[in-house]
Amino acid sequence: MQNLIAKAQALDEGDPLAPFRNRFHQRDGLIYLDGNSLGCMPLAASQRVRQVLEGEWAEGLITSWLGAQWATAPQRIGDKIAQLIGAQPGEVIAADSTSINIFKALTAALSLRPDRSVILTETTNFPTDSYMMQGIEQFSDGRVKAQKVAPEDVVDAVDESTAAVLLTHVHYKSAAARDLAETTRRIQQAGALAIWDLSHSTGALELDLTAANVDFAVGCGYKFLNGGPGAPAFIYVARRNQHAQSVLSGWFGHAQPFAFDEQYEPAKGADRFLCGTPYVLGLAALEVGVDLMLEADMAQIRAKSVAFGDLLIDAMAPLCDHYGFALTSPSEAKHRGSHVAYAHPHAYAMVQALRELDVIADFRTPDVIRFGLTPLTLRYADIPEAVVRLEQVCRKRSWDKAEYRTLAAVT
Ligand SMILES: *Cc1c(COP(=O)(O)O)cnc(C)c1O
Repeated sequence: MQNLIAKAQALDEGDPLAPFRNRFHQRDGLIYLDGNSLGCMPLAASQRVRQVLEGEWAEGLITSWLGAQWATAPQRIGDKIAQLIGAQPGEVIAADSTSINIFKALTAALSLRPDRSVILTETTNFPTDSYMMQGIEQFSDGRVKAQKVAPEDVVDAVDESTAAVLLTHVHYKSAAARDLAETTRRIQQAGALAIWDLSHSTGALELDLTAANVDFAVGCGYKFLNGGPGAPAFIYVARRNQHAQSVLSGWFGHAQPFAFDEQYEPAKGADRFLCGTPYVLGLAALEVGVDLMLEADMAQIRAKSVAFGDLLIDAMAPLCDHYGFALTSPSEAKHRGSHVAYAHPHAYAMVQALRELDVIADFRTPDVIRFGLTPLTLRYADIPEAVVRLEQVCRKRSWDKAEYRTLAAVT
């Protein structure tokens, strides 16, 4: 461990991203390894939200829809997110939750493949992805079939009945990363559309949706984008697919919302995938997180995330030998996103006991500990230090407490 600590210190000294840490609120002593679940708060977010509340809302009232550019925030922030994911201006909007955007993308894709009925995913996808598919199937009354196959079988299961395939790029539990371009190519070769959930990729990995020819994508605002709790999500619609049907045909997706027409007429471009009034407060905080991310170099972010993962895996090796942790993430960095997961029979209790030592990691049922690795907010030295504290939890068996035997409502 001593040599890993020394290595981490050396890496911190040469770290080009080090100045970003102080742009976020930091609590002394805390090692926060859960930025893949809820990102840290940029200091500028609290100023910006206060400005929206006290200036734009309190003083400006309704005039702020235009005066403070509230009305166009989904497109403006969408265009900024587009830069982070290799999309073109006009292909991304920031709105609604990831779940809702999954619904929009699936139904839009179905409208582009009227002669195909299957929407396909893998059995271990994030639950909301398959839940949304099930809802569409039930509501469609026979028109649509939601199909799930084993993760390794998905691409081969695409056939002439498949309208769209919904996959997550970086798996929420294991952090296993799929080959975006190659998988997209194979899905499209079979005539289906490729929809990607980028919740654990956006702001963490270099992405080029244009080069990968992705059809639709969605992703979270509150994870690596540091947009704040419940931040709006985003939807990407490749320009060639923007004539698709917007099934959630709310008035903000109308060609002229303020004409108050009786008939729905969809807006041109990605705007038709807006639904209702933009969430102004949430968008304000999200924009701060996205702006901060745009200041950083994504290649440097990825390089630091990879180094974090390798360092953590090295530091954890003795704990795997002595205390029964099993690495469930790919050991090779190129197949891994920006967290590292371990299975342990007492995973939940360990995560609770770690909090007593000021390390926040997270638990995913049934036995997974995830360590989220966020290059803008963590130092290299935090990685071995977190493992030192985990080793202490194991050695002193401080996880072995009655109150850690029942799961909390939110984990
Ligand atoms: C976090 C996450 C979501 C969250 O969806 P919400 O609608 O924002 O709650 C969806 N998909 C994946 C893969 C996620 O990791």
